[in-house]
Amino acid sequence: MSATTSAELEENRRLLKELLCRPGNGRCVDCGAADPTWASFTLGVFMCQSCSGLHRSIPHISKVKSVVMDGWHAPEVKFMASTGNSAAKAKYEQRVPPFYYKPTYRDCHVLREQWVRARYERNEFVCVEQQEPYSTGYREGFLWKRGRDNGQFLSRKFILSEREGALKYFNKHDAREPKAIMKIQTLNATFQPAKIGNPNGLQITYLKDNSTRNIFVYHEDGKEIVDWFNAIRAARFHYLQVAFPGASDADLVPKLTRNYVKEGYMEKTGPKHKEGFKKRWFTMDDRRLMYFKDPLDAYARGEVFIGSKENSYTVLPGLPPSTQGHRWPFGITIVTPDRKFLFTCETEEEQMDWIAAFQRVINRLMLPQEYAVEAHFKHKP
Ligand SMILES: [Zn+2]
Repeated sequence: MSATTSAELEENRRLLKELLCRPGNGRCVDCGAADPTWASFTLGVFMCQSCSGLHRSIPHISKVKSVVMDGWHAPEVKFMASTGNSAAKAKYEQRVPPFYYKPTYRDCHVLREQWVRARYERNEFVCVEQQEPYSTGYREGFLWKRGRDNGQFLSRKFILSEREGALKYFNKHDAREPKAIMKIQTLNATFQPAKIGNPNGLQITYLKDNSTRNIFVYHEDGKEIVDWFNAIRAARFHYLQVAFPGASDADLVPKLTRNYVKEGYMEKTGPKHKEGFKKRWFTMDDRRLMYFKDPLDAYARGEVFIGSKENSYTVLPGLPPSTQGHRWPFGITIVTPDRKFLFTCETEEEQMDWIAAFQRVINRLMLPQEYAVEAHFKHKP
């Protein structure tokens, strides 16, 4: 390529900035973050700085430069003008199955990296045959599962079968009887790298006798664990299509898997409010507030149903005046039709965050099926 003069570089930079104003180019092609400042001059797409790092892991496919800091040549700019984010999405995202999880900038590294690799490196959404590992309704393989007693991760065989309506795992490789049968109907999966202490850590939950059970798994290969995640979503999608025949994809997709409303430590006291406060790990999962002694416990010490304001659920800052026995100063009172729950937070910021999380749940109208869940909680001893 002939030497580019500084005037030409200046002009190319101006043209690129103009391209960023075109429809589709104002957001990162990969994660949707606003105002991308990087671009792949081999794929013709604009992206955020964080996603440009993911593109560097596929240098045989994508070469990136900064729009503002690097020098651009006229043919590169011309290519960027002829492609752009909308055209690239039309090409690389032609056949994304409705259940496939499209991550955003809020999601963890492994989900975002595999979304980049799936599209540009493996062409998964151009050649449908590539989707076989998660679309067929059956998946079998080994995952590292955290042991309940000692916290060690052990290799376990997992089988997901849409036909049987369950995900199962086996303790011994040749075992006939599964250690657990997790019904697809109540299955959830959420990436929890920080909590599990592994970048590919996945928390799988299911209901047993109407109580939540947790298992924690990972696979050292990012593609494998994301394929498992999407296989669970595919199985849930097909289950829900049968359960709700008239529902649209847009209705079903948000129900496939869910991230938690909020998690973190608080202190709690017992039903008499005289018991000393104890520090517990809390998880707000949809309308279930669960507390654990350890964040990686297999099941909760207790679960509380959080209904709506129409059904007499309220969250208030502070504690009743006579309350004693707490170390943390920032109180929260949750009023339910049955009793009051008292919690404390270490900081005011945490208190505000938790109140906002509870308020979001309480402000939402209860769905018909949630009345049945609430009734079940009332009958618990
Ligand atoms: Zn991005």
